[in-house]
Amino acid sequence: MTRAAVPPNIENLAAWLQYFHDLRIGSFYRDRGAALAPLVEENPELSELKAQMAKSKAAAPPLPAGSYIGFPLNPKLVPETNNAPAAKFDLQAIGRDASLFTELEKVKGDTLERIRADIGDCTRCRLCEQRNKIVFGSGNAKAELVFVGEGPGRDEDMQGLPFVGRAGKLLTQMIEAMGLTRDKVYIANVVKCRPPNNRPPEKDEVATCIPFLLRQLEVIHPKVIVCLGSTAAQNLLGTIKSISHFRGQWFDFRGMQLMATYHPAYLLRNPAAKGDVWKDLQKVMGVLGLKVPKAVAKN
Ligand code: URA
Repeated sequence: MTRAAVPPNIENLAAWLQYFHDLRIGSFYRDRGAALAPLVEENPELSELKAQMAKSKAAAPPLPAGSYIGFPLNPKLVPETNNAPAAKFDLQAIGRDASLFTELEKVKGDTLERIRADIGDCTRCRLCEQRNKIVFGSGNAKAELVFVGEGPGRDEDMQGLPFVGRAGKLLTQMIEAMGLTRDKVYIANVVKCRPPNNRPPEKDEVATCIPFLLRQLEVIHPKVIVCLGSTAAQNLLGTIKSISHFRGQWFDFRGMQLMATYHPAYLLRNPAAKGDVWKDLQKVMGVLGLKVPKAVAKN
C-alpha cells in the first residue's frame, strides 16, 4: 500500500516541527550539514551546495542557552545570551497553543477516577522503586483553584496525600488565609511518587508522569492554577527561566489562568519571601472574587 503524499507546505512542516517539539526532539535537523558533508566531499559537483551550507552555517545563530533538550520550547522564554538578542520577556502566549499532544492528552469523558485507575500500581519510571504510596492528589474535583507542587516528600509518601508535611502545613495556612479550606481546592504534584532524598524529579520522570497531571487539570478545569515552585511552573509553562522572573504574573494555560509563586518549602527557608507570595495569592483571590478575611487583613 502506498502512502498518499502530503504536499510539502509551511503548515505541514510547522505541524511536524510542533510534533517533534512535543516529543522533545529537536536539534537533529539543525546540523544536517554534518550528515551531508561526506556526500559533498565525494561529489565535486555539489561544491556550490557546500559553499551555501558553509554560508548558512556561519549565519545560523547558535542554539540559544534556553534550549530544552535541543529545542527552545518557548522562544519567548529563552534566557538572554551574550550573542543572541534577548527575546522580549512576554509569557502571555504560553500554553495556549493547541499542539498535537494537547489534543492527544484529552481523554473523552475523562474523570479523576479513570486517571487514577490508569495510573494503577505504576512502574513506568524508577520513582516506583522506593515509593511507599502513590500521591495522586486530593481535594475538590470541582475546585475553582488548583495548587500544583513538585512531588511528594517523606510524609506525603507515607500517607499517600499531597502537602501534609511541614511545607503542607504552611500551604494549609496560606489556603486558610485566602478564606478557603483544603477541601474547597484541589492539590496535586508534577510527579506522583517521591523522588529519593527529595531531589527534584528528573526530566524523564516528569515526562512520564506529567500527562496524568495534565489530565487532572483538564478534568477539574479550574479557573486558576497556582504553581508552587519552579518545577511545577517551568514544566507547565515550558521554560527554564527562573521563577523569580515571572512569579505573580498571569498566563493563559489551556483556557485556565495560571500563576506561579514560591514553594512553601522555600518560604520555610526564606520567610522574607512570604510577602511576595501573599501578594500573588491576593491577585488569585481577586480573580476568584474572594475577599481578604478580616483577621488576615488586620495583620
Ligand atoms: N512538596 C511538594 O511539592 N509536594 C508535596 O506534596 C509535598 C511537598
